[in-house]
Amino acid sequence: MSTPADTLNIPGLRMTKQRKDVYRVLTESRDHPTASEVYDRVKHSTPGISLATIYNCLETLVEHKAVKQVNFDRESSRYCPNLSEHGHFHDEKTGVIHDINFKKGVQLSDFLDIPENADISSLEITLRGTLPKT
Ligand SMILES: [Zn+2]
Repeated sequence: MSTPADTLNIPGLRMTKQRKDVYRVLTESRDHPTASEVYDRVKHSTPGISLATIYNCLETLVEHKAVKQVNFDRESSRYCPNLSEHGHFHDEKTGVIHDINFKKGVQLSDFLDIPENADISSLEITLRGTLPKT
C-alpha cells in the first residue's frame, strides 16, 4: 500500500528513508506533534535514529514547504502536514491542536478588514477553548 510519504513529490526534495518516516508520522496522526514527539514515534520503526536527525528532516521538509511549522505561544514548534490555508483550535483541556478549515467559498476578506493591496505572506489563526466531551 502506498502512503502519502511515497507519493509526496516536491521538486528538489529527495525523500530519503528518514524523511519519509518523519513525513509518515506527521500524516498518520494530525495532532501537530513537536520534534521530540515525532522522535518518539519514529524511533519505533527506525531504531537508532537521533533527535538531531529528526530536527534536520523537519527543517528540510519545512524548507521545501512539505509541512508547516507552527508555533503556539512559547511552546516548542509543532509540525503540520496540512498545506491548505487553515486555522487551529487549541483545546485547553486536552492540549490537542485541531485543524479548522475555512468554510467553502469564504475568503479572508469576507471577515477581515484587510488593507487594500496588502500582500499576505502567511496566515495564523489560533482559537483557544474547550470542546464538549464526545
Ligand atoms: Zn494544522
